[in-house]
Formats: sequence, C-alpha cells, structure tokens
Amino acid sequence: MAIDPEDRLICTSADSIEGQGPHSVAQPIAQTSLFTFDTFEALSAGLDDEYRNSVYTRGRNPTVQALEDKLAKLERGEACKVFASGMAAVSSVILGLAEKGDHIVFVNQVYGPTLELAEHLTRFGISYDYIPGGALADIEQALRAETRLIWLESPGTMLFELVDIESITELARERGVTTVMDNSWATPLFQKPITMGVDIVVHSCTKYLGGHSDLVAGAVIASDEVLEQIFYRAFLLNGAAVGPFDAWLTTRGLRTLPVRMEQHESGAVCVATYLQEHERVAHVFHPAVTGDRSLLDKQMDGTAGLFSFELKDADFAVIRSTLNALNVFRLGVSWGGFESLAISPNRGTNVENLEAAGIPLGLIRLSVGQEDVDSLIEDLEQALAR
Ligand SMILES: *Cc1c(COP(=O)(O)O)cnc(C)c1O
Repeated sequence: MAIDPEDRLICTSADSIEGQGPHSVAQPIAQTSLFTFDTFEALSAGLDDEYRNSVYTRGRNPTVQALEDKLAKLERGEACKVFASGMAAVSSVILGLAEKGDHIVFVNQVYGPTLELAEHLTRFGISYDYIPGGALADIEQALRAETRLIWLESPGTMLFELVDIESITELARERGVTTVMDNSWATPLFQKPITMGVDIVVHSCTKYLGGHSDLVAGAVIASDEVLEQIFYRAFLLNGAAVGPFDAWLTTRGLRTLPVRMEQHESGAVCVATYLQEHERVAHVFHPAVTGDRSLLDKQMDGTAGLFSFELKDADFAVIRSTLNALNVFRLGVSWGGFESLAISPNRGTNVENLEAAGIPLGLIRLSVGQEDVDSLIEDLEQALAR
C-alpha cells in the first residue's frame, strides 16, 4: 500500500538542532548529561520548566528532542517524549495518568509484559480487565465508572487481529475514558491512531523505528498537556531517559523507515501467502493475507513484516525441530530489524498459559527482515520438508 509523501519528507529531512551549525546534514550528538547557563537566573528559569528546556539529559536533550519532533509529526500528534525502552514508555503512561482506585481495560492480544505490569499495579490499587478480542460489546461491558484507560493493540501481538479503532475511541469519548494505542507493529507510516481519535500512542522504537537491532528505546506521543503530566509524574522520576546516542541511532533509522517498511511488507505478504498454501500449515495470521480486509482498508495504509502461522501438528517436538532446521531465519526475541527471526510462544513448559491466552500451541512467529524473499521461502521449504 502507499506511504504518505509528507511522511517520507519527515523521515528523511535533515534537522539542525539548538546550538549547532545549520549545515550538518546528520545531527551532531549532544552527548552530555547537563547543560550550563551563563547566569544563575537563566539556570533557574530552565529548572522552572524542565519539560521545555534542556537542563539535564534525564529530562530533555536536544538530540533526543530532534527525534521527538519527528515522531510527533509522523503520528500527527502535538508532542512526543522518547524513553529508554518501549516498556519505559508503557509504564510511564500508566503511572503518569492512573490514580489509586482507577481501572484499565486492555483490548486485543496485548504485549505480554504490558499485562504483567498491570498485574503488578494491582498492588497499588489499580485494577484491570483484559479482553483478548476487540468486540465492542465486551469492551462496553468491562467499562466501569472508575475506568481511566482503554489500552489497545491493533494488530494485536501474536495473532495480529485488528480492532475497529474508531468505534472504540467513540465509545471511550462518550464515557470520558482516555485511549492508548501501542502502534509499534504498524509504525506511523502504516497507521495513525491519533487521526482516528486515539489520545496517546506508544512505541517500542527498538523494533521498526530503530530498525537495525542495535538499540532499545520507546516513545509516547500525546497532546502537550497529557505529555507534560506524564513527564512530571513519571518520566523525570522513573529516570528511564534514553541516551543521546541511541536517540541519534533511532533518527538515523527513520531515514530508511519508508523503504524498509515497503520491503518488510512485500516480503512478509509473499512468505505468508506461501505458507498459507503449505500442507503442514493449519492457519496463517497476517492482517493482509487472512485478516479483516475492510478494517485493514479503513484504518491502515500498509502492513508490516511480523506475522505468525500455526502448524497442523502442534506437538512441541515438531515445533522445536522445525525451528532448529531454519538457517536464514535466526532464532531470537524481538523483531523489526534487518534480520529475519523465528520464535514460538510454545516453549514446551507453558502450555496452560497459552491455552488460557487463546494462543494456538502450534504457533510460530516470523519477523521477515530485509533478505531476498526467495531465500526465506527456500529456508522454510526445507525446514518444513523434514
Ligand atoms: C517489544 C514491544 C514492546 C516493549 O518494547 P521494549 O523496547 O522491548 O521495551 C512493547 N510493545 C510491543 C508491541 C512490543 O513488541
């Protein structure tokens, strides 16, 4: 599908940053922990507004700020903060906004550690409900007077099902509930939740935005008012600030995000289509190949390289030997990099958890990287022939 020309300009544009010459096409890195001021009055004024001034890198840093500006523009949001990891972004949104007694509704297959965090927060009087699918009636039923957040993932983790974003944000607005979307999978190039009424977008920049499997970072995009609250109540105090160099690497990753996403998209659709016809495959979970086409056309501009498929024979020994037979696909966690990866949520010891979560036991997840698609298909062909 198509990438917005404006987004290509945002990704590839050179930005000069505060205090640096205007001619450096790649941003110089402000590799510094603190900033000095000519007068004590100027320092004091900076400290009065650490959200908007570079005083100390745990709060704000111009190299990080350059990345934040780009991500806010790409998501069509007002403001962005970049964090030391995706989970730092996730936890800061919740800790920055939720009060004791508040309730959160998680919708669709949500990233595992996000739900783990929710479970831990019950210790502090924050409760939650988890709805594995996206049915509006189920969400409506889960809402309470004290519901503060609806947390969405679309496509969801592992099964990549879409939820109807606009109908959910409409319901949330009626009930005065803030919506959050983890948009790591689609990236802002292929989905812009804020334009569909979502209040807050979070990202793991570790995945496609960085794109080279050489950094860990996260981001939150929201209105300036909401982000400032998250900044003072969580970001600055949790101390999960990203280092300037990792922010710089992420900005460098953005330069090639459009071309990488096009390659991830076409490669994954080819591999998924191949697998769908394979006699050993029961089902492919890919939004463009087997998903809800009308939702996809309505709310997405493209699809990414991460999807899963289910083996007919879900025996753990078969999963293990299939994964071990792969040569081009490497075995590893994470996704969104140049390298193709394979993993199964079934580790042989967690069958009960998978069944409770509605995850098929024969599931294998693939992250299609930047390699030649024929090499990837050949690799799967020989692994599935065993
Ligand atoms: C990886 C991931 C995260 C967490 O990001 P980290 O950078 O690993 O902390 C959050 N959400 C989704 C969907 C992810 O895949």
